[in-house]
Amino acid sequence: MQAVRARPCCICRHGGGGEPSEAHHFAGSRGTGIKAADAFTVPLCHFCHSSWHNSARVGELTKEQTLAVFWRECAEILIERLTIEIDVEQ
Ligand SMILES: [Zn+2]
Ligand SMILES: [Zn+2]
Repeated sequence: MQAVRARPCCICRHGGGGEPSEAHHFAGSRGTGIKAADAFTVPLCHFCHSSWHNSARVGELTKEQTLAVFWRECAEILIERLTIEIDVEQ
């Protein structure tokens, strides 16, 4: 969770301006516990987050494009996390 909030907004990449990103669960919220819920979480700034919840799209992106960005960001976070876990085990 910490790792997600520390990242910039995955839509506008603006989150670095002091404001921490908000964690948005975009899938799997009824999964098999914390790990599953955590896996489908992406960082969004307050603006993009409320825009998504209000209109199911953000800025010029369509809903499908926004979801594609969520999945790509999610994959990046998982890869980073796995890399860290492998480093720890060695
Ligand atoms: Zn949300
Ligand atoms: Zn944003």
